[in-house]
Amino acid sequence: MQNRPIPDTLAKAFSQPSSVFSIDVECVATGLDHNARDVAQISLVDYNETVMLNLYVTPVKPVVSYLEPLTGLNQSLIQSQGRPLPSAIAALKQALPPTAILVGQSIGKDVDWLGLVEGQDFEGLVDLTGIYRIWNPRYKSYSVFSQDHLAKVLLGWDTAGSPHDAVGDAVKSVRLFREFQNFQSDEAAWSSAQEKLLAVPPEPSFAKRNPEFEGVCMGNRKACKCGAPFLG
Ligand SMILES: [Zn+2]
Repeated sequence: MQNRPIPDTLAKAFSQPSSVFSIDVECVATGLDHNARDVAQISLVDYNETVMLNLYVTPVKPVVSYLEPLTGLNQSLIQSQGRPLPSAIAALKQALPPTAILVGQSIGKDVDWLGLVEGQDFEGLVDLTGIYRIWNPRYKSYSVFSQDHLAKVLLGWDTAGSPHDAVGDAVKSVRLFREFQNFQSDEAAWSSAQEKLLAVPPEPSFAKRNPEFEGVCMGNRKACKCGAPFLG
């Protein structure tokens, strides 16, 4: 692999696999604009893909759409299994050691949703979007990939447009992390992976296929009509 320095957090994740966990959050729409979302499912998975938590959460605000084809969530599931967010967060904090390194796709967003604090609830973050960022000589810029694309190309795990699930996505994240760890000692495999990631055309995202779903703006930058800000 390229001789770039490995940040401390990544170095710890490599040397202490027992510190590695993945968290994933699924949100439902509680308004029509693309930022109106409330947490409805939280998962916690360890380095060995053991599912430690799968919690359904009852949103405080009325649900406008469960975005079911995207989230796999619906009214009967949340009504029968949902619990209040504070109780879910408490269970999560109890299960998560403060020494944890959290890996995930745009993991900072999940951590923000849950109000987890670095240095208190966990030690550091490894964002798969960042570690799998690849220089694209054709466009002379970095290419970044969705978790669906990374999983399809590198793990042969093709969800083919089926709904996301907080547990499945967290498992994908730790598996992609372990794959990245394997690439550290296999330069040829890493080169071939980079070529494949760039060569395979990415499937259009849900937001691209559905700029609006049940009246809810999905935050496709080119098609957004709701006017809400893009928070990154
Ligand atoms: Zn919008």
